[in-house]
Amino acid sequence: MPTAVISDIHANASALKTVLADIESREITRIICLGDIVGYGPDPLECVDLVRQKCAWSLMGNHDFGVLYEPTNFNPGAESAAFWTREQFDQEPDAALRAARYEFLGRLRVRVVEKIEGPRQVLAVHGSPRRPINEYIFPDDAMNAPDKMESIFDRVEGVAIVGHTHVPGVFTDEPDFYPPGELGDMSFKFQNDEKAVINVGSVGQPRDHDPRASYAIIHEDRVQFVRIPYDIDSTARKIKSIGPLNDWLGDRLYEGR
Ligand code: ZN
Repeated sequence: MPTAVISDIHANASALKTVLADIESREITRIICLGDIVGYGPDPLECVDLVRQKCAWSLMGNHDFGVLYEPTNFNPGAESAAFWTREQFDQEPDAALRAARYEFLGRLRVRVVEKIEGPRQVLAVHGSPRRPINEYIFPDDAMNAPDKMESIFDRVEGVAIVGHTHVPGVFTDEPDFYPPGELGDMSFKFQNDEKAVINVGSVGQPRDHDPRASYAIIHEDRVQFVRIPYDIDSTARKIKSIGPLNDWLGDRLYEGR
């Protein structure tokens, strides 16, 4: 049974609901989430509730951590969004629901190793195997940072899945990086002796200049990347109506950056 992998939703309910409907239309019933459920976007409570209901489990991303504990190393726009997001959780009038959401955020794991499909063992982290919450693995690193990539691949047996950069694609240990568009059929076929770090892209704030929501499906023999258009207007409009959320957070959704 294939598993859908979503990540970096960033409180964009319009994008999340479109992706969940697409997953359901494929009759896939198992969904996992690599973190950053909240932060930047206008619908943090709705997104946390959907992930709680629909996902087998989620990891903790740096923005989930920032909202639950404190935003460290955030730029002013991200920090302001984190404080606004915290207020939304705090202002929930239903005490049991408020507690359940905090409980859920507090129990998010930073690293999971699991047999996700068939015999294949998969390591799941939000950022990187070295620093699970905060380290970015950028596509350029394959070219410019071979030592970093070697150190990362030293910590990977087989396949790792990550998010955090909001740029989908596959890193191999040559090292090399393949955007989904350069893979035949938007799919990467697993090879038994080849390591791979797979970035599933972002549901709610893609940054590869393609504004469509991104996620991936792990099949027994391959990972398949999926892009879907969603109603950007509705999310951007809400962002612009909320003072602490910088307007740029809405504008960037149209450009996918
Ligand atoms: Zn993110």
